Amino acid sequence: MKDPRFQPEQIGPNEDGTRLRIVGADGEFSEYEPRDLRLRCPCAGCVDEMTGRRILVPDMVPEGIHPTAIHYVGRYALQFMWSDGHSTGIYPYEFLRRIWDEGLEDAPDPSAGGGPG
Ligand SMILES: [Zn+2]
Repeated sequence: MKDPRFQPEQIGPNEDGTRLRIVGADGEFSEYEPRDLRLRCPCAGCVDEMTGRRILVPDMVPEGIHPTAIHYVGRYALQFMWSDGHSTGIYPYEFLRRIWDEGLEDAPDPSAGGGPG
């Protein structure tokens, strides 16, 4: 099932140009390190389709990698043209949102600390 809330309204660099920002139709925004997105490429060349194991070697991905172009794939995904020439990865919006949500869980929340009610 496709969730229309994840449809990007806006895609572009954040203020300092170091991250890719996607603003969803629900008004929620998410930001991604370009290299982190490249490392999570879900294509068959980067992930073994049978085992789900990641084949991509992080050392092979240059530090300054960035998308040279971003294409919409139907209504459900984005395709990135990476500066290392890789372009076969299709990133569904729900996948992108999940990456962002996972990142938020990992990060310490500065507003937390009040404790439960
Ligand atoms: Zn790939």
